[in-house]
Amino acid sequence: MYRFDTLAIHAGQPNDAATGAVTVPIYQTSTFGQLEPGVHRGFGYARTEHPTRRALEECLASLEGARYGLAFASGMAAIHNVLSLLRTGDHVVSTQDLYGGAWRIFTKYFAKFGIDFTFVDSSDLAAVERAIRPETRLLWLETPSNPLLKTTDIAACSAIARTAGIRTVVDNTFATPVLQQPIALGADIVLHSTTKYINGHSDALGGAVITDDESLFAELKFFQNAIGAVPGPQDCFLILRGVKTLGLRMARHCENARGVVEYLRANDRIARVHYPEFGAIVSFELDASVDETIEFSKRLRLWTLAESLGSVKSLFCHPPTMTHASVEPEVRRRVGIADGLIRLSVGLEDVRDLIDDIDQALAEVASPRRVACAG
Ligand SMILES: *Cc1c(COP(=O)(O)O)cnc(C)c1O
Repeated sequence: MYRFDTLAIHAGQPNDAATGAVTVPIYQTSTFGQLEPGVHRGFGYARTEHPTRRALEECLASLEGARYGLAFASGMAAIHNVLSLLRTGDHVVSTQDLYGGAWRIFTKYFAKFGIDFTFVDSSDLAAVERAIRPETRLLWLETPSNPLLKTTDIAACSAIARTAGIRTVVDNTFATPVLQQPIALGADIVLHSTTKYINGHSDALGGAVITDDESLFAELKFFQNAIGAVPGPQDCFLILRGVKTLGLRMARHCENARGVVEYLRANDRIARVHYPEFGAIVSFELDASVDETIEFSKRLRLWTLAESLGSVKSLFCHPPTMTHASVEPEVRRRVGIADGLIRLSVGLEDVRDLIDDIDQALAEVASPRRVACAG
């Protein structure tokens, strides 16, 4: 078995049999000629099976140490695919501070079909255990969580779920398989927004669902074809191109993030830094109102204010008014998403330039309130 960086370049990607092309071609086609009715060369119709997509699916599965992968048009389409396993009356236990779009599809879409969700602090194993009911079917984990970057013990949670006869799903978008491989830790399904680190260049949307369970795969594959939220060949090509450098990129992303965290922790204008000591997403709190935080955000020049993360280009967002705007204010407060919270996605620029930019922006905001009060 080859190692990670070799798999990223080779898994699912042999040289093209017809031409020797070293890169998997963009097969820009919606259908495939059949030999006789119902008999084809492995590809019948592009929604069902597609060669560029299959290369991506095989590569992503291998990077998570699993046999089966499915690619989708977005991370949300991948989430929709997994939740399609549920039926009316089923219950899901989920990490509390999770991706805002996941929260939205759970509570405003799947809830309509009589599926119930309980949100818990999944870093608290007793809370996870207490939330499980006889009708619970899935344990949904996001770790590190969004935007507070709390970590969950995937192995311990998967063991709790397995004992209760429940499947564990891990949204591995933030950590990537470079830093964390949930299947090896006991999870049944791994999910990605490949829009983020896996593609890594902010030029395509995508999602993936990965499992090592053959019957689960058959069910999810049926939904993929039946629902049809598949990525086009061009996007599969771009994501497959991006993933080849995932190992390299993550190493530098993490190194830069450590530099930024060191700077933030040493700065007394920063009320709090959230960083799980790995990865390249960093959140920090300014001791400031929403309006003051927006003022700060306007002063950054190199960092781009944008939704999304995991790009070569450094991005930042203000979760209360952006990624988590669809979460009710009192829920945000309860889970600890402060008005002055900023989430950074540390990119691959020279870290000194990234720090200098934050430094000049902070120099222009009002002094910390506690100092102002003391004076
Ligand atoms: C972005 C994101 C999603 C949704 O993915 P899209 O590609 O934007 O649809 C899901 N989970 C996490 C953790 C994300 O960051």
